[in-house]
Amino acid sequence: MEIAGTPLLIFYICPKYKPLFRMNPRFTALDRIHSLEPLPAIDRSRRASEIFGENVFTPRQMKHYLSREVYLKLKESTDAGNVLDRTIAGPVANAIKAWAMDRGATHYTHWFQPLTGRTAEKHDSFLEIADGEAIEKFSGDELAQQEPDASSFPSGGLRTTFEARGYTAWDCSSPVFVFESKYGKTLCVPTIFVSYTGEALDYKIPLLKSIALLDRAAVEVCNYFDRSIKRVMPTLGAEQEYFLIDERYHDLRPDLVLTGRTLFGAGSARGHQLDDHYFGAIPERAFAFMNELEHEAHRLAIPLRTRHNEVAPSQFECAPKFENLNVAVDHSLLLMDLIDKLAKKHKMRALLHEKPFAGVNGSGKHNNWSLGTDTGKNLLAPGRNPKENLMFLTFFVCVIKAVHEYADLLRASIASAGNDHRLGANEAPPAIVSVFVGSQLSKVLDDVETPPRRKKNDTVSELMHLGISEIPELLLDNTDRNRTSPFAFTGNKFEFRAVGSAANSSNPMMILNVIVADALKEFKVRTDSKIKRGRKKESAILDVIKEYIIASKSIRFEGDGYSDAWVKEAARRKLPNVRNTPLALDGYLSVKAVKLLTTHRIFSEPELQARYGVLLEIYLDTVKIEAQVIREMSRTIVIPAAVRYQRELMESIRIGKEAGMDPSATTTQVELANEIGIQLNALRDDLAKLETESLAAGKKTKMRDVAIYFAEKVVPVMADIRQHTDALEQVVADETWTLPKYREMLFLK
Ligand code: ADP
Ligand code: MG
Repeated sequence: MEIAGTPLLIFYICPKYKPLFRMNPRFTALDRIHSLEPLPAIDRSRRASEIFGENVFTPRQMKHYLSREVYLKLKESTDAGNVLDRTIAGPVANAIKAWAMDRGATHYTHWFQPLTGRTAEKHDSFLEIADGEAIEKFSGDELAQQEPDASSFPSGGLRTTFEARGYTAWDCSSPVFVFESKYGKTLCVPTIFVSYTGEALDYKIPLLKSIALLDRAAVEVCNYFDRSIKRVMPTLGAEQEYFLIDERYHDLRPDLVLTGRTLFGAGSARGHQLDDHYFGAIPERAFAFMNELEHEAHRLAIPLRTRHNEVAPSQFECAPKFENLNVAVDHSLLLMDLIDKLAKKHKMRALLHEKPFAGVNGSGKHNNWSLGTDTGKNLLAPGRNPKENLMFLTFFVCVIKAVHEYADLLRASIASAGNDHRLGANEAPPAIVSVFVGSQLSKVLDDVETPPRRKKNDTVSELMHLGISEIPELLLDNTDRNRTSPFAFTGNKFEFRAVGSAANSSNPMMILNVIVADALKEFKVRTDSKIKRGRKKESAILDVIKEYIIASKSIRFEGDGYSDAWVKEAARRKLPNVRNTPLALDGYLSVKAVKLLTTHRIFSEPELQARYGVLLEIYLDTVKIEAQVIREMSRTIVIPAAVRYQRELMESIRIGKEAGMDPSATTTQVELANEIGIQLNALRDDLAKLETESLAAGKKTKMRDVAIYFAEKVVPVMADIRQHTDALEQVVADETWTLPKYREMLFLK
């Protein structure tokens, strides 16, 4: 007679059989992933041009939903980047509500950028009950301003709890949009976030201030050359790199779940040595994801253009076409949200961390930055006539001068725990800030500095005449590349490559705007004073250009930024080489930086101090969490797996002995068991060291000292620990190891 369930019962009762039942979750995940199909393709029946911006309240929508008079007033505010004119707030809110409800939105939220680095929102329903009647309402006040509880966002001590109120107010230079999720649609209003007492609590306020500052400074300099220019706007095209891995692997790794990067993991035998991933065929599931990402981005008017595989396996990149800086930053943040959301939908996880996998290429967010005028000119594109070229050279040299002058502030603007693993860690780009301009422009700059005798044999068709005798000719369309430079000129824009993939571009772009504005202002002062002393305008400008070229010469570097030779050379040139975040953040508080940022009214001193404090705290929290996860994973996952396998080996040795076998028959087992023992002991020692060093760090009183201690003493111990866990991964039987391995996560099919 057969009793259902009997075999199960036997296994349950006899512990001896239990191991048979312990399935390795890694293999279960592997099985499932193999049987997984990409999600069905999205409906592409409507063209990209038809859907582009359909979830955004664009000028076309404004025209449709607003009276002409209100439309014109609103357009004036949005174009000028002013706050909403309160006299039209009511009708505008009504129109936006009507439009949003037509698109199916039920709630609205002010969407802002707290110092956590990503975005935040607080949803309110349109629904209101008035006199027992339910209606949908959205008033001018609700559009213009909200009062979220600010106490759950970092402020760096700017607010005491009793005045934890914060205000958000619409930045109407960035349009409202409807964000869709499977469960509903929300009207999002991009806003600034300010404390009750008026201090900035976000990344948008300083960015907007810097844009206005740069506009004023640049227009004044433009007017030396072209009086018709009334406005200058910085532009940004932010390329986003990320990794995609299957969600089952992700969920089996506490390090990925809690810190966004793998704290352990032996390198895969195959990495990117074969170089076959870059521009390689996009795996189907990733392709399905990217298709949908592009579609959803387009509906939100994010001009995504390129998609391709990156250098590392499972690494991808997407890049939108450049836009006005403020909108581009909002779009970049929105894109990050979309990447997260859609990766989950496709049963994957997007890793936006700068260095999710040790020994594998990291991720950046290359910030392509330039300056555009209201007359449609790109100020960083060489022109066609002498006057335009002198203007180009002016702006070009001012940027280089600014980077030279404030290299440490620029370094501070990209500092984060994640980016520390990228910058200067044998990888793109180095922590030393330098500027690459290419051989042709180097020659131009050198020739301005020391004018050469003119050669006759240049081919005129290839050369563009700058026309002023002191300036040589400049080759058009020569964009030689140097991928090792953190800040490179690429033909008609600068590419700030050191920005981390997880960063909000707002901060580095704000600093870049301010330092360039400062250089331009100084340029104007110097030039004017020369003109006043009787120098001809063009000659005065050229004089100052020359002074700037000489003053900033040491920041220019055309060679291999990854080489040791450059580290030595940079030291000789006295360029800062700051390898970790706590030290890099000092850049915000140098006398020079404080003076710069306060005189230009970007921050008050307390605001700057507070911001510095927040960034330091985020760094510290991040590394502390990592240390904690390392401790826990070592003890609860790695050590148990190693012990289990060691025991198996010892069992085999014992059985061999009992059976009277020659000891030489189990030499391998003995060796392996010993090797495990050695690694386990070393791991134990390092875990103890992690404990004592963390405690020692805690004894420091100043937060800066704690953070520096962590960066210099604790983080290296974390790396030591990893050596042992990774060594164990390479001895322990594959079937006993439960953490998904690099080869599995990275070669997603
Ligand atoms: P590259 O080959 O240098 O990567 P692309 O033309 O692909 O050049 O541009 C990379 C990024 O630079 C894109 O996001 C692009 O829109 C952006 N870009 C191009 N021109 C400008 C500009 N004037 N200002 C800001 N970004 C720009
Ligand atoms: Mg690039």
